[in-house]
Amino acid sequence: MTALKGILLRRIAATGPISIADYMTECLLHPEHGYYTTRDPLGAGGDFTTAPEISQMFGELMGLALAQAWLDQGAPAPFILAEPGPGRGTLMADMLRATARVPGFHDAARLHLVEASPALRAAQAARLPEATWHDRLDQVPDDLPFFLVANEFFDALPIRQFVRDGVGWRERVVGREEDRLVLGLTAPVPLAELEPRLGDTRDGDMVETSPALPALAGEIGGRIARNGGAALIVDYGGRGTTGDSFQAVRGHEKVDPLSDPGQADLTAHVDFDALARAAHPAACAGPVPQGVFLERLGITARAQALAARLNGAALDAHVAAHRRLTHPEEMGDLFKVAALHPRTAPPPPGTET
Ligand code: SAH
Repeated sequence: MTALKGILLRRIAATGPISIADYMTECLLHPEHGYYTTRDPLGAGGDFTTAPEISQMFGELMGLALAQAWLDQGAPAPFILAEPGPGRGTLMADMLRATARVPGFHDAARLHLVEASPALRAAQAARLPEATWHDRLDQVPDDLPFFLVANEFFDALPIRQFVRDGVGWRERVVGREEDRLVLGLTAPVPLAELEPRLGDTRDGDMVETSPALPALAGEIGGRIARNGGAALIVDYGGRGTTGDSFQAVRGHEKVDPLSDPGQADLTAHVDFDALARAAHPAACAGPVPQGVFLERLGITARAQALAARLNGAALDAHVAAHRRLTHPEEMGDLFKVAALHPRTAPPPPGTET
């Protein structure tokens, strides 16, 4: 039994079942035993991979799209370039390489990273020594135009799950049966927050909420509306939530989220409609499928230019990476790109709905 499982079993015995959100928070961010606090999950022999780790083209095109939004707003200098959950720093490093020839962009950028994992902060510092780190996004200075990218960050935010029962809702919780963690349901209660969902669900349907999303998206949207700027947010999910999207991945395989707490990555779909609502008064463009976004930005031409310098296994890997990022049966449809921007400025290219 993992140390974290013991801690959770004792906590549940003492104070009762916990929400999926509390379970996710403990598993991902427990200071000693959390999944992100103790490791680099993207490294060699890691558990999952992400778009920037698959190909440099992803970060290059994200960088050019964000730099175009900066140019469209009159190239404000200085400005904040922020990234929550930067992983190994690959996305930002590729963005910075691709934007090196955008006049003034690098000189004006103040790089701020938000990262909960000491292991990943170390990996980021090796690639981005000029950055300033923060524990939370609201600690980033709030006095400059605010340009942000986030890839697979919002899907790590804790979710709560509710099953409809008449006009009430039963919350899905993690309880214990002897030495096992088990899923259970609370008694049904009406919930004001979920009243709008009575219109589009039936008895037995599950809906998910993300308690941390409104404050976080509100922080980003508020800064962009007040100070200027733009955000490019990439994640798997869609508009609204339907059904159970809570999942655990370990060693590139889906596993039971309750089996080894702290040893697997836990995620859920991002509700882009909730994100857009919370980001008001900033405007939201998209979400558009990742494949569409990358094609609009010219990934095929970029892929061909890179391919001209490759052969053999490296060329095969490059072709496979292009397909993986864009093909509807791979990441092209499941992942979506949304942009936040001031109502007075155009959205970053590629995100027009
Ligand atoms: N964006 C990277 C990594 C995605 S993994 C990429 O695309 O490769 C999720 C990242 O978010 C990790 O860096 C993880 O440590 C970080 N993270 C998760 N929850 C967080 C939180 N509550 N606060 C800050 N960082 C968090």
